[in-house]
Amino acid sequence: NTLLSVNDLVIEHRSPGRPVVRAVAGASLTVNPGEVVGLVGESGCGKSTLARAVCGINPVTEGSILFEGTPVTPLGLRRRTLTGIQMVFQDPYASLNPRRRVGDQIADGLRTARDTTSDPADLLERVGLPRDFAGRHPHEFSGGQRQRIAIARALAARPRLLIGDEPISALDASAQAQVATLMRDLAVGSGAGLLFISHDLSVVRLIADRIAVMYLGKIVEVGDTAEVWARPRHPYTRALLQAIPKPDGGGVLPAELPGDVPDPANPPAGCRFHPRCPVAMDVCRVKEPAFGPVACWLHEPA
Ligand code: SF4
Ligand code: MG
Repeated sequence: NTLLSVNDLVIEHRSPGRPVVRAVAGASLTVNPGEVVGLVGESGCGKSTLARAVCGINPVTEGSILFEGTPVTPLGLRRRTLTGIQMVFQDPYASLNPRRRVGDQIADGLRTARDTTSDPADLLERVGLPRDFAGRHPHEFSGGQRQRIAIARALAARPRLLIGDEPISALDASAQAQVATLMRDLAVGSGAGLLFISHDLSVVRLIADRIAVMYLGKIVEVGDTAEVWARPRHPYTRALLQAIPKPDGGGVLPAELPGDVPDPANPPAGCRFHPRCPVAMDVCRVKEPAFGPVACWLHEPA
């Protein structure tokens, strides 16, 4: 009873006169009902492209995406809202119309779920906002409040899968953990799955049951959050964990990663991480490691 299953997904971006970019280059991932999966990685690694394909916004080039066993294919905006998947974006204005009253927008979500008994104000209450916000407009609120409104709107549609694409990265530090925890509690409390995309591992650690680490279009490590945190196996995961600021205020540790993320239009041969990997071996430069559940020659089963 896997809720979402992404299998060897490839998504290519093609534009005239430019090289084909494999934004997602063979990624596999599952989300179960009531489970929170954190998808982490640097910006530009393909996290958002993957999420948009799950919602039917980006077409799939190769591989498959199954939601409740049914292939996800690109849908028109109207039908997309009926699939049981709702997305909360980094910019709340991507999900909210600045010119319409908050209550009317939440009512749209209720109509999607054919919910004729709930009041939009009930949803505002569930996300910790006053009921009378329903009569006001999004611009009257702070970023954190707007994101709560976007969450209320998404939840009104009763999704079985909620996706947050960097939903906290535009918020103040004080609001980040609150909004992340709220998404977790509301999704899990209704039996829905949550795919939470972020480059902030410390927040993902707070809310995720499992962590998937993405690098240059590939998922390079998946595991239980506590396990990955205690024993990261892929050198890229280790580097990401080392880059997290220390809670004792001892300053930000620099990422132990030489160089920038390579151009996805021209990825390195072999292991895509090898030009930045501190422990790269000869085989890494020529042969790509298979995924399972760590894509690294150091962890290849014999
Ligand atoms: Fe580093 Fe090689 Fe593992 Fe890639 S396969 S992460 S280059 S050790
Ligand atoms: Mg993104």
